[in-house]
Amino acid sequence: MTQAFSKVTAIRGMNDALPGNGARWEQLEEAVRVWLAGYGYRNMRTPILEHTRLFTRGIGEVTDIVEKEMYSFTDSLNGESLTMRPEFTAGMVRAAIEHNLLYDRPQRVYAIGPVFRHERPQRGRYRQFHQIDVEALGLSGPDIDAELIIMAARLWKALGITDVHLEINSLGQGEERAAHRAALIAHLEAHKDVLDEDGLRRMYTNPLRVLDTKNPAMQAMADAAPKLFDFLGDVSRAHFAGVCERLDDAGVSYRLNPRMVRGLDYYNLTVFEWVTDKLGAQATVCGGGRYDGLIELLGGKPAPAVGFAIGMERLMDLWGQYQPETPKPECTVYFVHQGDVAQRRAAILAEGLRDVGVSAVVHAGSGSFKSQFKRADTSGAQIAVILGDDELASGVASVKMLRGEPSSDALSQQQVPIDQLVTFLKDKVN
Ligand code: ATP
Ligand code: MG
Repeated sequence: MTQAFSKVTAIRGMNDALPGNGARWEQLEEAVRVWLAGYGYRNMRTPILEHTRLFTRGIGEVTDIVEKEMYSFTDSLNGESLTMRPEFTAGMVRAAIEHNLLYDRPQRVYAIGPVFRHERPQRGRYRQFHQIDVEALGLSGPDIDAELIIMAARLWKALGITDVHLEINSLGQGEERAAHRAALIAHLEAHKDVLDEDGLRRMYTNPLRVLDTKNPAMQAMADAAPKLFDFLGDVSRAHFAGVCERLDDAGVSYRLNPRMVRGLDYYNLTVFEWVTDKLGAQATVCGGGRYDGLIELLGGKPAPAVGFAIGMERLMDLWGQYQPETPKPECTVYFVHQGDVAQRRAAILAEGLRDVGVSAVVHAGSGSFKSQFKRADTSGAQIAVILGDDELASGVASVKMLRGEPSSDALSQQQVPIDQLVTFLKDKVN
């Protein structure tokens, strides 16, 4: 009896990386690791699932993420509310506190991996996406804010990306924000008639976020609102100036954006975003800032911190506009063979090649020499090795250069004693 099954598809907004672009992801991750190592940042891996209260407390109740974007569910075993991480910082800080990472020194750390947000999927906005998250924990000076920003500039450069620019702002400290907040609420009250539903709802709970609106009808009101920057005291201003001076030293240009507040509640002093006009509406590739209060808020001994996150899908999209993908070969050597004995010999020879660091694929399944050669060619391999009855009988394999050498017959095919094959091929590819 046969039964037709319906196809199960991926969840909307959650993407597969297929073998074709998987290599590209690896290439990006490799570049990222080299870049991070250049600044002494060390890898951390935290769980994808955390207690929901970590994020409600750490990110803030009145934020887009906590209000409407989290994948939360109740653990059926014990009734606890759990959430798929929507960002890294809260989990990284939790781990740092839990393992007392800051007890004797500050930590420069990073993590790379998937995060989850229940948003409306579109270009550059997915429900599962990936972040490169970089955090400097336990350091308070403007030097470290600048280091992080300059670091990001180096990544763009390493990837050959030119059209990203930096926007920065300072959110000051609690008291400065409180004074500004009072002035801002007065301004919002005076312009109640232009506020949309979100604006009215947040006007007392998170008035700063009201200014972060994308609603065109509210732009004039937002432009005219009191600017937080004007409420900053000397210490906050000096910190900001310290960051700017160091950006100047490094030749990193920036634009002061007094309206930038960032989506999360926990920021203070420096906030920044790297934006581009090459990605349509989803223009921000990297966002970050200082969050000196978060470690204490999550139950740790008070310590300053600053960090940023890069959206990898957006970075991949952007990178692809500068550097076209070059297909990565599946292997260096492809074994074409006929018959059981030849297949087994090829398998052992391929193991020998891998021992000396040369990648190899042994054709799997049957097929004529012709069809196997076709596969060898599409694999991108540099060399094909042919093992058939004749070769086994004479102890000499045929080696065919598929690419990378002049294709005159003498050069393109050679006879090599099987017992010298591994050494021969190793020399050939180096
Ligand atoms: P946006 O304003 O675009 O929603 P955000 O402020 O919510 O961004 P952050 O929380 O700062 O974003 O996340 C850091 C980075 O992750 C962003 O700068 C962006 O590159 C990327 N990012 C954020 N949300 C998504 C998403 N849904 N899909 C893909 N990338 C995203
Ligand atoms: Mg968002």
